[in-house]
Amino acid sequence: MTLISGWQLLDRVGQRGPLLADGANGTMLMSYGIPAEDVLGANLTQSDLVKRIHSDYVDVGTQLITTNTFGLRTGGGWAESALAGLAIAESVAADAPREIAVLFSLVSSHVVPEQENLERIIQEQASVTPLLLLETCTNMAVISAAVAVLKQRLPQVPLAVTCHFNNDCKMVDGTPAVECAKLLSNLGVQALGVNCCHSAVAVFNVVSQMHAAVPLPIVAQPNAGQPVTASDGTMHWQMEPSSFSAIASSLARLGASVIGGCCGTRPEHIRAAAKVLRSLNTL
Ligand SMILES: [Zn+2]
Repeated sequence: MTLISGWQLLDRVGQRGPLLADGANGTMLMSYGIPAEDVLGANLTQSDLVKRIHSDYVDVGTQLITTNTFGLRTGGGWAESALAGLAIAESVAADAPREIAVLFSLVSSHVVPEQENLERIIQEQASVTPLLLLETCTNMAVISAAVAVLKQRLPQVPLAVTCHFNNDCKMVDGTPAVECAKLLSNLGVQALGVNCCHSAVAVFNVVSQMHAAVPLPIVAQPNAGQPVTASDGTMHWQMEPSSFSAIASSLARLGASVIGGCCGTRPEHIRAAAKVLRSLNTL
């Protein structure tokens, strides 16, 4: 059994440098021809493909598998798709050649309406306790409400929160990175950080500011640059893996404890990040 709990994963933070997370799921599915509106239903209709993407990340060295559950609409079908996404991620982790934890990805605004389903899925269906991840968060009031519900319903489940920041290191609601970090720390999250920004520089600045502000593990998951929209409307991320590995190296030096990728990142990017982190003797 190589599936480990979120708590076991957190115990490893800082032992040998940053942990390596995976890259994008949604944009990978789109690159395989899945329409954007069908990405989240793929847990039910294209489970083999979702599994393959997770496995490809395992093959290049990830220590975390993020469920393909970000952006699921609330209401009918949420629980079914979310549960399927969790089961796929767990099955890949269980078969992996090294110990791997599952990051259960959530939209922060979905936590309150889906709290009963979420409690049932995690308490009754999860094989081991995952690390819950509220990602691409933009609004502290929404995050606070979500964290309060999670602390009440799932007090034994570790929680990470990563936020989107503009280039001025402020969230969409105007909250600066340092204030965000302190608020999240006071809310009792186990890890915090940044994902999906407009530039790597913004991610660097947010990571260094958060690292200096709070004594918690910092998660950093930048994009593979900004997308280019082709004439057929499809979006393409063009950052080379070598550029992504340079970003990963910088993030390690700035104090990030968990490094992975967001939109547009592929297994090649995570492979390059793994290589550079290994060269820094952190993996
Ligand atoms: Zn993203």
